[in-house]
Amino acid sequence: MSLCCRVCRIELKDNDCVVLDDFGVLRHHHCYDYENYQEFVDSVGKFENVRGKFPRFLLNVYKEVIAMGDNRSKEDISDEEVLATLAYTLGYLD
Ligand SMILES: [Zn+2]
Repeated sequence: MSLCCRVCRIELKDNDCVVLDDFGVLRHHHCYDYENYQEFVDSVGKFENVRGKFPRFLLNVYKEVIAMGDNRSKEDISDEEVLATLAYTLGYLD
């Protein structure tokens, strides 16, 4: 599957420099609004390295959601379980 920059809608290429924000959205480095959204930057790098990453902030949010739904404690839920639950739906895995 291909992913497009949320700003310019052009497909992201492996060598493009991209920004992953706390909400899991990818944009070109040159398309990102650093002036207003600097604090939401999670990772910056080449698309081939950043893709497939999941923002730490969202991992924790989803852990709480899963814990609530399953009546478990948040600490019992691993990062892998969250990713497995979400990967298919959100397209974080190829
Ligand atoms: Zn762009």
